[in-house]
Amino acid sequence: MTTTTQVLELKMLINGEWRLSSNPDTNKVINPANGELIAIAPRATIEETKEAIKAAKETFESGVWSKLSAQERADYLLKIADKIDEKHDELVELEVKDNGKIKAEADIDISDAASCFRYYAGLIRTPDGQTYHVADPMQAMVVREPVGVTGLIVPWNFPFLMSVWKFAPALAAGNTIVYKPAEVTPITATKLVEIIEEVGVPKGVVNLVLGKGSVIGEVIAASHDVDMVSFTGSTEVGRSIMRNAAGNLKKISLELGGKSPNIIFADADFEAAVDHALLGIFYGSGQVCSAGSRIIVEESIYNQFVKEFVRRAKNIKVGPGLEEGSEMGAIVSEAQLNTILEYIEIGKKEGATLACGGNRLTENGLDKGFFVEPTVFIDVSSEMRIVKEEIFGPVAVIQKFKDEEEAIKLANDTIYGLAGGVFTSDGAKALRVIKQVRAGITWINAYGPTYNEAPWHGYKQSGIGSSLGTFGLDEFQEVKQININLAVGPTGWFSDNGK
Ligand code: NAD
Repeated sequence: MTTTTQVLELKMLINGEWRLSSNPDTNKVINPANGELIAIAPRATIEETKEAIKAAKETFESGVWSKLSAQERADYLLKIADKIDEKHDELVELEVKDNGKIKAEADIDISDAASCFRYYAGLIRTPDGQTYHVADPMQAMVVREPVGVTGLIVPWNFPFLMSVWKFAPALAAGNTIVYKPAEVTPITATKLVEIIEEVGVPKGVVNLVLGKGSVIGEVIAASHDVDMVSFTGSTEVGRSIMRNAAGNLKKISLELGGKSPNIIFADADFEAAVDHALLGIFYGSGQVCSAGSRIIVEESIYNQFVKEFVRRAKNIKVGPGLEEGSEMGAIVSEAQLNTILEYIEIGKKEGATLACGGNRLTENGLDKGFFVEPTVFIDVSSEMRIVKEEIFGPVAVIQKFKDEEEAIKLANDTIYGLAGGVFTSDGAKALRVIKQVRAGITWINAYGPTYNEAPWHGYKQSGIGSSLGTFGLDEFQEVKQININLAVGPTGWFSDNGK
């Protein structure tokens, strides 16, 4: 392996101290576009993870963060947003090198991340309590308080943005943090923590541990000193988090996998439907939880749709994220590449027809990286694994339906419920259908756009709780009722004979 780029030596931040681990085993971080070593990261021990949790607990209890006014915390959040903007180009480049996505996608992630901090800086300063008309002489009110120590565990597909979706509301609400990024993408995660430190957030508020999910992620999920785990990742690991969280019944927020339907009716704007459906599945090389990986097309336009979709898919320019003209980037790691290629083999064995793609790309200098052709399967049936399971790669299956009822049935025939789309020029039908799709993030005549203001929420096995919007802040807060007696005196409930 050649190493022409500077290899970063990443450190962890525990109680305000940047440090390596006592564990001699390290994690070698690879640029998935060319196989180059780009960073070496520590693998924290269980003991070091416990130290990070202890620091977060003591810092929470000290009140240096939790007892600041909303305005003071918001001011920090605004400074973090400004720093992200200031370092935009550096962060974009690092995200591309770490994750493999194309520059245009990383540009959106980093801009959205700054905007997310600004959104929660504003939100935390809006009224959020309630008072109730209860019987005299009592006055009841509700106040919101931080949950306490929060464990933030994030995946590799949007390393910076997924972290910020958690950091912004967690910090706004006054919590302290133990943060564990994914092992394959720890670089911009470390940068985020550096930025937070640079703007002067007190030591111990944010603690960063790097290492294996199966070791240190488990410690965070199981610790009785952690009050909440906010996790984004696979449904399988989500189940394990839930089991581990049971020990102290900690609060959990789980954003998990998907196998989302995108329904195309014959009366849709054909060109727009094809175009959005391509974006729905091939954005991020299909490594997007909300990807529209099951395209469900009305029978009368099925052949025409497949033909045009395949033509367009074949034209997608796959290449390194930093290279001019690349439209779809690398797969994040060799392991993920192999998973995708295995699923393609499974699809073939199951009897589906490969309409295009299906191969690893190695021509034109792509051989050192992890690239897969945009892949489309047709002639599929509901029992096939490629239709049921999340592949998390650039692999679409195109299903066929006869009428509205069958479209909805196929759309909901999944254990997941993250996202869904419908394309039609009939407004009433669009709303009627989307309301019946059992998923939390949906689109009509579009597939993919999402906003900091609106909740990101999975039904069924796609998760518990929400990110973003006011709902995302709620996750990181407890609610407390305070009942005030306005006429202090004995109740007279128990008799008192003076003995
Ligand atoms: P993953 O579940 O393998 O890992 C996610 C994180 O959990 C990583 O930091 C990992 O180290 C950690 N982890 C692994 N095992 C753990 C354990 N036993 N205990 C605690 N932590 C553990 O997921 P991934 O491969 O990084 O990401 C891909 C998955 O994430 C896909 O399923 C995708 O759909 C999902 N995802 C969901 C959303 C959403 O908002 N719903 C967003 C992005 C990704």
